Amino acid sequence: MSPIARAKRGRKLPRDVVLWHATSIEQTLATLESSAERGLTADVVQARTVEYGENVLQHARNRGLLRMLVAQFADTMVVVLMVAALIAGLVDEPEDMLAIIAIVILNAVLGFAQEYRADRAMAALGALAQPLARVRRNGFEASVPSMALVPGDIVLLAAGDQTCMSFKGTTVVAGRGTGVVVATGMRTELGRIAAMLRDEPESQSPLQQRLAVLGRKLAIAVVALCAIIFAAGILRGEPMLLMFMTALSLAVAAIPEALPAVVAISLALGARRMVKQQALIRRLPAVETLGSVTYICTDKTGTLTENRMHVDTVVLGDGTAWTLSQPPAHDLTPLSEVMTLCTDVTVGAEGVLVGAPTETALVRAGADAGVNKRALDAHWPRVGEVPFSSERARMTTMHRHDSRVIVCTKGAPERVVAGCTSMRSADAIVPIDAARVLQQAESMAVSGLRVLAIATRTLSQQPDSAEHAEQELTLLALVGLIDPPRAEAKAAVETCQAAGIHVVMITGDHPATALAIATRLGIADDNDVALTGHDIPGLSDEDLAQRVTDVRVFARVAPEDKLRIVKVLQSRGEYVAMTGDGVNDAPALKRANIGIAMGRGGTDVAREAAHMVLLDDNFATIVKAVHEGRRIYDNIRRFVRFVLSTNAGEIWTLFLAPFLGLPLPLLPIHILWMNLVTDGLPGITLAAEPAEPDSMQRPPRSPQESLLAGGLWQHALRVGLLMAALALGTQALTIRDGNSHWQTMTFTVLTLSQLFHLIAIRSERISIWTLGVRGNPALFYAVVAAFGLQLGTLYVPAMNRIFHTVPLSWQELAVCVAVSSVVLFAVEGEKWLLRRRHPSSGFPS
Ligand code: ATP
Repeated sequence: MSPIARAKRGRKLPRDVVLWHATSIEQTLATLESSAERGLTADVVQARTVEYGENVLQHARNRGLLRMLVAQFADTMVVVLMVAALIAGLVDEPEDMLAIIAIVILNAVLGFAQEYRADRAMAALGALAQPLARVRRNGFEASVPSMALVPGDIVLLAAGDQTCMSFKGTTVVAGRGTGVVVATGMRTELGRIAAMLRDEPESQSPLQQRLAVLGRKLAIAVVALCAIIFAAGILRGEPMLLMFMTALSLAVAAIPEALPAVVAISLALGARRMVKQQALIRRLPAVETLGSVTYICTDKTGTLTENRMHVDTVVLGDGTAWTLSQPPAHDLTPLSEVMTLCTDVTVGAEGVLVGAPTETALVRAGADAGVNKRALDAHWPRVGEVPFSSERARMTTMHRHDSRVIVCTKGAPERVVAGCTSMRSADAIVPIDAARVLQQAESMAVSGLRVLAIATRTLSQQPDSAEHAEQELTLLALVGLIDPPRAEAKAAVETCQAAGIHVVMITGDHPATALAIATRLGIADDNDVALTGHDIPGLSDEDLAQRVTDVRVFARVAPEDKLRIVKVLQSRGEYVAMTGDGVNDAPALKRANIGIAMGRGGTDVAREAAHMVLLDDNFATIVKAVHEGRRIYDNIRRFVRFVLSTNAGEIWTLFLAPFLGLPLPLLPIHILWMNLVTDGLPGITLAAEPAEPDSMQRPPRSPQESLLAGGLWQHALRVGLLMAALALGTQALTIRDGNSHWQTMTFTVLTLSQLFHLIAIRSERISIWTLGVRGNPALFYAVVAAFGLQLGTLYVPAMNRIFHTVPLSWQELAVCVAVSSVVLFAVEGEKWLLRRRHPSSGFPS
């Protein structure tokens, strides 16, 4: 019976009852109906996916929709308002009560819709963050998302992997291995832990925390002002209940308790936009901090370069050299065989080479010289190895055939040559001239080639240690690989420089190769020198701190050096983004302000430690993310500016009216309507504002800078006062004229002036005539909709009753529009002055 038919009939593999660790390999494979050599077939994989589901952990993110909706009403201010509305309704006017409750419900539903969208965006990002696993299926090796693993899969482990073997979440630090999957998803050990942790709260971003503090301070101020407004009203003989509701509505409206939530939503939606540009955010606060980055420390291989390597040049120890486009003058078979054996490349289906680009390049060059990797591996089975690591910068494998053992070593020339006693020249094996060979390697590196030394030795028995294996080697050749810089990298480096961000290359490669590529990309110039991993340990932290800001290229750097570089830069007040792909890069990635891992190459450990993952491994993507981060921060600031100005306008109006001898200008329902509907909603569309043209031509924002810096709170007070003056002026003049429509007009002026303000503050400097509506159509539609709703309160009879308004004549409406438009012209004037005072910043006018 085929396994799929068996699975369909419901015969289940054993679940938790088996003590896998105490079961033999054969027994395990038999129980799981798998084969170590061929893995599972596609049919079985499909059947088991159906049976066991995907290999994923369920996180707390999937909180119920109902809970999310209820949370909207759990806000203290909303509860207070509902209770007050209820009391007022019972004592006095039930219509008012219903209207207030309706507005609060509308507000909650809209809040829910926003939060739901943000939640969905984050869930989608989580799915993208899946690690890859290498598996053997159908007899071939392939990479599949770890999500697609099923019990019985044969997984191939290598350093840095984190697959569902032994325990989901396990990290392989070095070496290789093969294993079989016995459980997936929530049935794994990690799944059991995840089930316990499901309801851990998410931490807030620094901006959210600061906003919460600001919100609390403002709340105290607003409550104090409301108390004064309440007392003043009572003293003037206004009805107690009306004053109570007025003070309460104002408190609810003016306390910006929703700010942290708005920030969370902006960040989540920003993260969704970023993923479209190939930057996957793993920790939400990173979206906000990206805008403050002053240093980007980047890898070379794959990030600045294409990581599409090919062998270009082969040089023998005596300097005999040729490029691979020329027919070889010598027999290249020994070299080709050694460099083909000394790799972890596997030949997948249809001859596709799977492995690190440096190694696939070597195997491809070997194949071009007539070497068949599979046949060679079969003839020379591997009997021992010392895997590649960045620290050792070399790799050694041992192979046996009959009574002969050959040692194959490849790696950084200075490391490999140190173990060589002889070398191949054009026609003989001669004693090595190490200085000359290294000189040779240097001159290859200067032209931007990545240089590997290839060496070998033959023994009669397997050496007992790596030290023993890697000595008395014969150098076969230096091989130069070309890895072209990415086409878009140069422009991205230029963008960084204009944006006040320093770009530093940190690489494990040869200093001359690194400098050559860095110069080509504009990171370094001809006068720059590279600081190497050789120099760094000799420098004290103070000395390193002195040097670090001048150095553009760090070469032959070990992962520990990366951590030191981050720390030293941070101690100088810099804000550091650092890329990394290896296991040992994880501490530096964690420590960096923005740790960046690679989505394609690189290890899961690095991805786990990082704040952001580049799905395309591309340097230019970091720069796009910084750009997006700056845009998002600017928009959050715009929103705060709008909300504070709006609230200030309402507070000034209600606070000043009694001192000017005017009756209460607005009813509670007006205040709520303005905040929750006609302003609250359009305000959110500020998040869709595109980046200003110069956002990458100004220096990074200091992370310590207050959100209210740059004149924000002064603007809010000033514009708030202006709005109040316009509203109270309208009120005073219409009352003087004996116009019974005064309250409707005051309400309309205040609402419309807030909409005009919204249009004006889309930019702090650029005039609206330059901006046009096309940049942010959402805002334009929202303003039109809000205006339409406001007209509804004026001309729809049912709404007249609810809002205690009267239909205005067209002349009165025109007056309201004209008066409130003063805010637009005033703010445009403010921007014009700013442009005149600081004309040099490159803003269009
Ligand atoms: P980057 O840090 O920019 O990614 P890199 O890829 O050159 O640079 P490492 O992978 O740490 O950095 O490599 C360091 C050095 O080790 C290389 O310059 C090369 O000489 C050697 N090397 C790289 N890959 C291998 C390999 N697969 N086998 C043997 N030696 C290697």
